[in-house]
Amino acid sequence: MTVSTAVDDIRENCAVLVDHIMARVPRYVLLAEERAPAIAWIDARAKSIIATTGHIRVHAEAGLMALANGEPSLWNDNRVPKDVHHILMNDPLPIGVSKKCCFMCYQLSTALMGGNAGKRFELPGTHGRIFPWDPPPFGDIEPVLEELAKALVDQVLQHAQEQGRRVADAS
Ligand SMILES: [Zn+2]
Repeated sequence: MTVSTAVDDIRENCAVLVDHIMARVPRYVLLAEERAPAIAWIDARAKSIIATTGHIRVHAEAGLMALANGEPSLWNDNRVPKDVHHILMNDPLPIGVSKKCCFMCYQLSTALMGGNAGKRFELPGTHGRIFPWDPPPFGDIEPVLEELAKALVDQVLQHAQEQGRRVADAS
């Protein structure tokens, strides 16, 4: 996915995603007076993120991990040199990036390492910050991405609940 396509895609689907999250608010936010501020927080966050996201790319470390995950299915692909196969087969596979990785790359590594394939990666830790993140469109990682998306929705709802409580307590 090109940079502008990824951004367009998010702008186009933002309302669907926000609806998906909002529909889950009543289950997370049990007190009625906390619901309105929780929903307002989700709405405001979504709008500010959409407004400030200029470009989205596949992070190098995520791309490498996805490639390594899908490595067995690449053996018959003549475009992939044999040396690359041998590098990707390393276990654990060191991902040599010069700085700590972002929240999503770290989550991806944890999910891939926990999966059935049991691939192990050595990453330089995470600084925990969240950046625009385009999931690698290769490497047979769709089930893992779905897991990560669900976990992210849960986290958004937890933050929304905390925000709702804070606002309700203050008024
Ligand atoms: Zn990253």
